Amino acid sequence: MKQKAFQYIDENKAGMLKLWEEIVNMESGSACLEGLDILADKLLREFSDAGAVTRKIGFEKAGGIAIGLFPGGEKPPVLLSGHMDTVFKSGEVQKRPFTLRDGLAYGPGVLDMKGGIVIALFVAKALKSAGFNDRPIKLLFAGDEEIGHLYSDAANAFMEEAKGCAAAFNCETGLIDNSIIVGRKGMANFKAVVHGVASHAGNDPKRGRSAILEMAHKVIDIQNLTNWDEGYTFNVGTIEGGTVVNAVPGRCEISVDIRFIDPAITPKLKAMVEEVLAKTYIEGTTTELLSFNSGIQAMKTTEGVEKLFALWKKTSEENGFGVPLPTHSGGASDAAYLVLADVPTLCSTGVKGANNHSPEEYAVVDSLYERAKLIIATILKLDEL
Ligand SMILES: [Zn+2]
Repeated sequence: MKQKAFQYIDENKAGMLKLWEEIVNMESGSACLEGLDILADKLLREFSDAGAVTRKIGFEKAGGIAIGLFPGGEKPPVLLSGHMDTVFKSGEVQKRPFTLRDGLAYGPGVLDMKGGIVIALFVAKALKSAGFNDRPIKLLFAGDEEIGHLYSDAANAFMEEAKGCAAAFNCETGLIDNSIIVGRKGMANFKAVVHGVASHAGNDPKRGRSAILEMAHKVIDIQNLTNWDEGYTFNVGTIEGGTVVNAVPGRCEISVDIRFIDPAITPKLKAMVEEVLAKTYIEGTTTELLSFNSGIQAMKTTEGVEKLFALWKKTSEENGFGVPLPTHSGGASDAAYLVLADVPTLCSTGVKGANNHSPEEYAVVDSLYERAKLIIATILKLDEL
């Protein structure tokens, strides 16, 4: 069966490239809801033409989720997932459409992660054409991953859809060194403001209550919340305050990025932030938490993840695709929610390349076929998990 499915990939390279080109050339920045809708419909058509039962979960203020289920078999389904949105603004496709040069592919989202979508669909098509009927194959693609599902319930939908699956391959940006992501930090962020009392620095300094001075104390307290041993870090990334040099500043605002490795820790982190903000150094100032965005959860390296990685590594070696190393990433992805749903998951199993989120983004064309084959071969061995 493996040889038959591999042969399908070899015989359909042109079809894979064509779909890749088509979907890279569709505008789908996270804010481009219309483009995302068109892309989702296009993919749902592709899924259903290939024999899947399709569904779409829509959101009012965010790109929806495209789902395809290839029925078959009694065993728990295998999940192939990822996202359709890119970080690029509308107009980017016109500036630099899908291009092939020297074995590399260029274009907005070519690596992150439209190549991964092509891989996922063709894994399902190849397995189906080879007569695979062990278990259902589910395809699941979000429309707002790049903005951390800020305006949607996609994170919960991902957990719900993943429940009961035997394994998941999140076909995100593949790393150029062939390593596979088995753990990711979670990300949260918040904004806070200090309201002070503005006054003239020369005529009336005593009446003033410096928002900047109050915030300066708090910046240090917040940075000191970082705990390397427990695996969480705080970064005050921006600060803005005051109006002119000769006035005691009446307002100061900060925004802060938090990273963490334990998915259960977010409430504790928020409580720590609230405690710092509740303390007052300069009497007469008040501090307000403007927003706390829980962001994307951490992907925990569970035993299931470790086992699936071992199977992937073995399969990769057996098929001549090299010896992949496990790695951890500081950036977040939806793989976190698949793991939270208790599904053994690997992340970054998509097309390989580098420089995502930038105009220099590229993907290695041959890895499109290689990764499809490696996922196929691993799916065929899932009973060994
Ligand atoms: Zn991505």
